[in-house]
Amino acid sequence: MKILNTMLGATVFAAAGVISSPAFAQDYPTRSITMVVPFAAGGPTDTVARLVAESMSKDLGQQIIVENVGGAGGTLGAGRVANADADGYTVLLHHIGMATSATLYRKLPYDTLNAFEYVGLVTDVPMTVVARKDLDVKDFKGLVEYAKANSDKVTVANAGIGAASHLCGMLFMSAIQTPLVTVPYKGTGPAMTDLLGGQVDIMCDQTTNTTKQIQGGTIKAYAVTSPERLAIFKDIPTVAEEGMPAMQVGIWHGIYTPKGTPKEANERLSKALQVTLKDPTIASRFAELGTLPSPEKDGTPEALKAKLESEIARWEPVIKAAGQYAD
Ligand code: ASP
Repeated sequence: MKILNTMLGATVFAAAGVISSPAFAQDYPTRSITMVVPFAAGGPTDTVARLVAESMSKDLGQQIIVENVGGAGGTLGAGRVANADADGYTVLLHHIGMATSATLYRKLPYDTLNAFEYVGLVTDVPMTVVARKDLDVKDFKGLVEYAKANSDKVTVANAGIGAASHLCGMLFMSAIQTPLVTVPYKGTGPAMTDLLGGQVDIMCDQTTNTTKQIQGGTIKAYAVTSPERLAIFKDIPTVAEEGMPAMQVGIWHGIYTPKGTPKEANERLSKALQVTLKDPTIASRFAELGTLPSPEKDGTPEALKAKLESEIARWEPVIKAAGQYAD
Protein backbone atom coordinates (compact mmCIF):
# COMPACT_ATOMS: atom_id res chain seq x y z
CA MET A 1 0.00 0.00 0.00
CA LYS A 2 2.82 2.35 0.90
CA ILE A 3 4.44 1.63 -2.44
CA LEU A 4 1.19 2.34 -4.26
CA ASN A 5 0.78 5.67 -2.45
CA THR A 6 4.31 6.72 -3.33
CA MET A 7 3.78 5.79 -6.96
CA LEU A 8 0.50 7.69 -7.08
CA GLY A 9 2.15 10.69 -5.43
CA ALA A 10 4.89 10.71 -8.04
CA THR A 11 2.33 10.52 -10.84
CA VAL A 12 0.37 13.47 -9.45
CA PHE A 13 3.49 15.61 -9.09
CA ALA A 14 4.71 14.75 -12.57
CA ALA A 15 1.29 15.47 -14.08
CA ALA A 16 1.17 18.85 -12.36
CA GLY A 17 4.59 19.67 -13.82
CA VAL A 18 6.08 20.14 -10.36
CA ILE A 19 9.13 18.08 -11.15
CA SER A 20 10.77 18.43 -14.52
CA SER A 21 13.54 15.88 -14.01
CA PRO A 22 13.44 13.13 -11.41
CA ALA A 23 15.83 13.72 -8.54
CA PHE A 24 16.38 17.35 -9.46
CA ALA A 25 15.76 20.03 -6.85
CA GLN A 26 14.40 23.33 -8.10
CA ASP A 27 16.52 25.17 -5.55
CA TYR A 28 19.72 23.71 -7.04
CA PRO A 29 22.40 23.79 -5.83
CA THR A 30 21.60 22.69 -2.31
CA ARG A 31 25.09 21.43 -1.48
CA SER A 32 28.70 21.88 -2.58
CA ILE A 33 29.75 21.11 -6.16
CA THR A 34 32.96 19.30 -7.15
CA MET A 35 34.95 20.83 -9.99
CA VAL A 36 37.36 18.27 -11.44
CA VAL A 37 40.59 19.69 -12.87
CA PRO A 38 42.26 17.01 -14.99
CA PHE A 39 45.79 18.13 -14.03
CA ALA A 40 47.85 18.43 -10.86
CA ALA A 41 47.38 21.22 -8.33
CA GLY A 42 49.46 24.37 -8.73
CA GLY A 43 49.41 24.39 -12.54
CA PRO A 44 47.66 26.74 -14.98
CA THR A 45 44.36 24.87 -15.35
CA ASP A 46 44.19 24.58 -11.58
CA THR A 47 44.88 28.31 -11.20
CA VAL A 48 42.08 29.23 -13.62
CA ALA A 49 39.70 26.72 -11.99
CA ARG A 50 40.30 27.98 -8.46
CA LEU A 51 39.67 31.60 -9.45
CA VAL A 52 36.54 30.68 -11.41
CA ALA A 53 35.26 28.30 -8.70
CA GLU A 54 35.54 30.99 -6.06
CA SER A 55 33.68 33.53 -8.16
CA MET A 56 30.93 31.12 -9.31
CA SER A 57 30.43 29.92 -5.74
CA LYS A 58 29.34 33.41 -4.74
CA ASP A 59 26.60 33.49 -7.35
CA LEU A 60 25.50 29.90 -6.69
CA GLY A 61 25.43 30.32 -2.91
CA GLN A 62 27.25 27.00 -2.54
CA GLN A 63 30.92 26.17 -2.49
CA ILE A 64 32.64 24.72 -5.54
CA ILE A 65 35.45 22.45 -4.39
CA VAL A 66 38.29 21.86 -6.83
CA GLU A 67 39.53 18.27 -7.11
CA ASN A 68 42.70 17.53 -9.07
CA VAL A 69 42.62 14.29 -11.06
CA GLY A 70 45.84 14.49 -13.08
CA GLY A 71 47.28 11.91 -15.46
CA ALA A 72 47.17 10.74 -19.09
CA GLY A 73 47.13 14.28 -20.47
CA GLY A 74 43.82 15.20 -18.86
CA THR A 75 41.91 12.13 -20.03
CA LEU A 76 41.73 10.51 -16.57
CA GLY A 77 39.96 13.52 -15.06
CA ALA A 78 37.66 13.90 -18.05
CA GLY A 79 36.83 10.19 -17.77
CA ARG A 80 36.04 10.62 -14.09
CA VAL A 81 33.46 13.29 -14.89
CA ALA A 82 32.02 11.39 -17.86
CA ASN A 83 31.23 8.55 -15.47
CA ALA A 84 30.09 10.65 -12.49
CA ASP A 85 26.45 11.00 -11.40
CA ALA A 86 24.67 13.38 -13.77
CA ASP A 87 23.11 15.36 -10.93
CA GLY A 88 24.71 18.78 -11.37
CA TYR A 89 27.16 18.27 -8.51
CA THR A 90 30.19 17.24 -10.57
CA VAL A 91 31.64 19.51 -13.25
CA LEU A 92 34.82 19.43 -15.32
CA LEU A 93 37.03 22.38 -16.15
CA HIS A 94 39.18 21.32 -19.07
CA HIS A 95 40.99 23.01 -21.93
CA ILE A 96 41.86 22.46 -25.60
CA GLY A 97 43.04 18.95 -24.62
CA MET A 98 39.41 17.88 -24.72
CA ALA A 99 39.57 18.40 -28.51
CA THR A 100 43.09 17.13 -29.24
CA SER A 101 42.66 13.96 -27.14
CA ALA A 102 39.75 12.95 -29.35
CA THR A 103 42.29 12.33 -32.14
CA LEU A 104 45.45 11.62 -30.13
CA TYR A 105 43.97 8.63 -28.30
CA ARG A 106 42.97 5.54 -30.20
CA LYS A 107 40.88 4.59 -27.17
CA LEU A 108 39.41 6.96 -24.59
CA PRO A 109 37.40 6.05 -21.49
CA TYR A 110 34.60 8.29 -22.87
CA ASP A 111 33.10 9.41 -26.17
CA THR A 112 34.17 13.07 -26.38
CA LEU A 113 31.14 14.42 -28.23
CA ASN A 114 28.54 12.29 -26.48
CA ALA A 115 29.64 11.98 -22.86
CA PHE A 116 29.14 15.57 -21.69
CA GLU A 117 26.76 18.48 -21.45
CA TYR A 118 28.21 21.94 -22.05
CA VAL A 119 28.19 24.86 -19.62
CA GLY A 120 30.32 27.44 -21.42
CA LEU A 121 33.72 28.85 -22.33
CA VAL A 122 35.92 30.36 -19.62
CA THR A 123 39.08 31.87 -21.09
CA ASP A 124 41.61 31.57 -23.92
CA VAL A 125 45.18 31.56 -22.60
CA PRO A 126 48.34 32.14 -24.65
CA MET A 127 51.39 29.94 -24.20
CA THR A 128 55.03 30.78 -23.69
CA VAL A 129 58.09 28.84 -24.80
CA VAL A 130 60.30 28.83 -21.71
CA ALA A 131 63.51 27.24 -20.46
CA ARG A 132 65.45 26.71 -17.27
CA LYS A 133 67.26 29.85 -16.19
CA ASP A 134 70.78 28.59 -16.84
CA LEU A 135 70.16 27.30 -20.37
CA ASP A 136 72.87 29.06 -22.34
CA VAL A 137 70.63 30.25 -25.17
CA LYS A 138 69.83 33.90 -25.87
CA ASP A 139 66.82 33.88 -28.18
CA PHE A 140 64.31 31.70 -30.02
CA LYS A 141 66.61 31.12 -33.01
CA GLY A 142 69.34 30.07 -30.61
CA LEU A 143 66.89 27.69 -28.92
CA VAL A 144 66.08 26.06 -32.24
CA GLU A 145 69.79 25.62 -33.08
CA TYR A 146 70.49 24.25 -29.61
CA ALA A 147 67.57 21.80 -29.76
CA LYS A 148 68.56 20.53 -33.20
CA ALA A 149 72.19 20.07 -32.18
CA ASN A 150 71.37 18.30 -28.90
CA SER A 151 68.15 16.46 -29.75
CA ASP A 152 69.11 13.30 -27.87
CA LYS A 153 69.53 15.15 -24.60
CA VAL A 154 67.25 18.21 -24.66
CA THR A 155 64.34 17.45 -22.34
CA VAL A 156 60.88 18.92 -22.89
CA ALA A 157 58.42 18.82 -20.01
CA ASN A 158 54.72 18.27 -20.67
CA ALA A 159 51.57 17.18 -18.87
CA GLY A 160 51.13 13.99 -20.89
CA ILE A 161 49.68 13.21 -24.30
CA GLY A 162 46.62 15.39 -24.80
CA ALA A 163 47.86 18.25 -22.66
CA ALA A 164 48.29 21.74 -24.07
CA SER A 165 52.01 21.54 -23.32
CA HIS A 166 52.15 18.32 -25.33
CA LEU A 167 50.40 19.97 -28.28
CA CYS A 168 52.73 22.98 -28.20
CA GLY A 169 55.82 20.77 -27.83
CA MET A 170 54.60 18.64 -30.72
CA LEU A 171 54.15 21.75 -32.90
CA PHE A 172 57.67 22.90 -31.98
CA MET A 173 59.23 19.51 -32.82
CA SER A 174 57.27 19.35 -36.10
CA ALA A 175 58.42 22.88 -36.99
CA ILE A 176 62.09 22.08 -36.37
CA GLN A 177 61.63 18.53 -37.73
CA THR A 178 63.49 17.13 -34.77
CA PRO A 179 62.12 14.86 -32.04
CA LEU A 180 63.32 15.77 -28.53
CA VAL A 181 63.19 13.87 -25.24
CA THR A 182 59.76 14.41 -23.63
CA VAL A 183 59.21 14.14 -19.89
CA PRO A 184 55.54 13.73 -18.88
CA TYR A 185 54.11 14.99 -15.59
CA LYS A 186 50.60 14.94 -14.11
CA GLY A 187 50.40 18.65 -14.76
CA THR A 188 52.72 21.53 -15.50
CA GLY A 189 52.59 22.66 -11.87
CA PRO A 190 55.04 19.89 -10.92
CA ALA A 191 56.81 20.34 -14.27
CA MET A 192 57.46 23.99 -13.38
CA THR A 193 59.05 22.89 -10.09
CA ASP A 194 61.51 20.77 -12.09
CA LEU A 195 62.14 23.56 -14.61
CA LEU A 196 62.94 25.92 -11.72
CA GLY A 197 65.22 23.26 -10.25
CA GLY A 198 66.96 22.75 -13.60
CA GLN A 199 65.91 19.09 -13.89
CA VAL A 200 64.27 19.68 -17.29
CA ASP A 201 65.36 22.05 -20.06
CA ILE A 202 62.34 23.51 -21.82
CA MET A 203 58.57 23.67 -21.72
CA CYS A 204 55.74 25.36 -23.54
CA ASP A 205 53.03 26.33 -21.08
CA GLN A 206 50.17 28.71 -20.45
CA THR A 207 51.00 32.21 -19.17
CA THR A 208 48.77 31.34 -16.21
CA ASN A 209 51.71 29.21 -15.03
CA THR A 210 54.74 31.06 -16.37
CA THR A 211 54.08 34.78 -15.89
CA LYS A 212 55.38 35.19 -12.36
CA GLN A 213 58.51 33.14 -13.04
CA ILE A 214 59.29 35.06 -16.25
CA GLN A 215 58.77 38.37 -14.46
CA GLY A 216 60.89 37.18 -11.54
CA GLY A 217 63.69 36.05 -13.87
CA THR A 218 63.63 32.49 -12.52
CA ILE A 219 63.03 31.03 -16.00
CA LYS A 220 63.81 32.29 -19.51
CA ALA A 221 61.10 33.04 -22.10
CA TYR A 222 61.69 32.91 -25.87
CA ALA A 223 58.32 33.33 -27.60
CA VAL A 224 54.56 33.62 -27.10
CA THR A 225 52.02 31.62 -29.11
CA SER A 226 49.49 34.48 -29.43
CA PRO A 227 48.98 36.31 -32.76
CA GLU A 228 50.18 39.58 -31.16
CA ARG A 229 52.77 40.30 -28.48
CA LEU A 230 51.28 40.34 -24.99
CA ALA A 231 50.75 43.58 -23.07
CA ILE A 232 52.59 42.10 -20.08
CA PHE A 233 55.54 40.87 -22.17
CA LYS A 234 56.15 43.50 -24.84
CA ASP A 235 59.74 42.31 -25.32
CA ILE A 236 58.90 38.64 -26.02
CA PRO A 237 58.37 37.93 -29.76
CA THR A 238 55.49 35.88 -31.15
CA VAL A 239 56.12 32.48 -32.74
CA ALA A 240 54.97 33.96 -36.06
CA GLU A 241 57.63 36.69 -35.81
CA GLU A 242 60.12 33.87 -35.26
CA GLY A 243 58.99 32.22 -38.49
CA MET A 244 56.79 29.53 -36.91
CA PRO A 245 53.17 30.58 -37.45
CA ALA A 246 52.07 26.93 -37.17
CA MET A 247 52.87 27.14 -33.46
CA GLN A 248 50.21 29.80 -32.95
CA VAL A 249 47.69 28.39 -30.48
CA GLY A 250 45.31 29.62 -27.81
CA ILE A 251 44.43 27.38 -24.90
CA TRP A 252 40.67 27.76 -24.55
CA HIS A 253 39.03 26.39 -21.42
CA GLY A 254 35.46 25.24 -20.89
CA ILE A 255 33.18 23.79 -18.24
CA TYR A 256 31.32 20.50 -18.83
CA THR A 257 28.95 18.26 -16.87
CA PRO A 258 28.22 14.55 -17.36
CA LYS A 259 25.71 13.68 -20.10
CA GLY A 260 22.19 13.66 -18.74
CA THR A 261 22.72 16.41 -16.18
CA PRO A 262 19.34 18.16 -15.74
CA LYS A 263 18.92 21.10 -18.07
CA GLU A 264 17.99 23.33 -15.14
CA ALA A 265 21.30 22.59 -13.39
CA ASN A 266 23.27 23.28 -16.53
CA GLU A 267 21.44 26.54 -17.14
CA ARG A 268 22.07 27.61 -13.55
CA LEU A 269 25.78 26.83 -13.93
CA SER A 270 25.94 28.79 -17.21
CA LYS A 271 24.30 31.76 -15.55
CA ALA A 272 26.84 31.67 -12.72
CA LEU A 273 29.65 31.38 -15.28
CA GLN A 274 28.34 34.44 -17.13
CA VAL A 275 28.38 36.41 -13.87
CA THR A 276 31.98 35.28 -13.32
CA LEU A 277 33.01 36.37 -16.82
CA LYS A 278 31.90 39.91 -15.89
CA ASP A 279 33.47 39.79 -12.41
CA PRO A 280 36.07 42.63 -12.25
CA THR A 281 38.21 40.64 -9.80
CA ILE A 282 38.45 37.79 -12.30
CA ALA A 283 39.28 40.23 -15.11
CA SER A 284 42.13 41.79 -13.15
CA ARG A 285 43.52 38.49 -11.81
CA PHE A 286 43.43 37.04 -15.33
CA ALA A 287 45.09 40.17 -16.76
CA GLU A 288 47.96 39.79 -14.29
CA LEU A 289 48.39 36.26 -15.67
CA GLY A 290 48.39 37.33 -19.32
CA THR A 291 44.83 36.40 -20.21
CA LEU A 292 41.22 37.62 -20.26
CA PRO A 293 37.89 36.06 -19.36
CA SER A 294 35.88 34.90 -22.40
CA PRO A 295 33.19 37.35 -23.49
CA GLU A 296 29.95 36.85 -21.55
CA LYS A 297 28.14 35.68 -24.71
CA ASP A 298 30.53 32.70 -24.87
CA GLY A 299 29.65 31.48 -21.39
CA THR A 300 26.95 29.33 -22.96
CA PRO A 301 26.53 25.65 -23.89
CA GLU A 302 26.17 26.55 -27.58
CA ALA A 303 29.46 28.48 -27.68
CA LEU A 304 31.42 25.68 -25.98
CA LYS A 305 29.88 22.95 -28.15
CA ALA A 306 30.70 24.89 -31.32
CA LYS A 307 34.26 25.52 -30.11
CA LEU A 308 34.86 21.86 -29.23
CA GLU A 309 33.54 20.64 -32.58
CA SER A 310 35.53 23.16 -34.60
CA GLU A 311 38.72 22.47 -32.63
CA ILE A 312 38.46 18.70 -33.10
CA ALA A 313 38.20 19.36 -36.84
CA ARG A 314 41.07 21.90 -36.75
CA TRP A 315 43.60 19.72 -34.93
CA GLU A 316 42.78 16.30 -36.40
CA PRO A 317 44.82 16.76 -39.62
CA VAL A 318 47.71 18.40 -37.72
CA ILE A 319 47.93 15.50 -35.26
CA LYS A 320 47.60 12.94 -38.02
CA ALA A 321 50.38 14.64 -39.99
CA ALA A 322 52.62 14.58 -36.91
CA GLY A 323 51.78 10.88 -36.55
CA GLN A 324 51.36 11.14 -32.78
CA TYR A 325 48.97 8.73 -31.10
CA ALA A 326 48.50 7.16 -27.70
CA ASP A 327 46.78 3.86 -26.98
N1 ASP B 1 49.33 23.33 -18.69
C1 ASP B 1 49.07 21.94 -18.62
C2 ASP B 1 48.92 21.41 -19.99
O1 ASP B 1 49.90 21.20 -20.54
C3 ASP B 1 48.02 21.46 -17.75
C4 ASP B 1 48.08 21.89 -16.32
O2 ASP B 1 48.90 21.43 -15.53
O3 ASP B 1 47.25 22.71 -16.01
O4 ASP B 1 47.86 21.14 -20.50
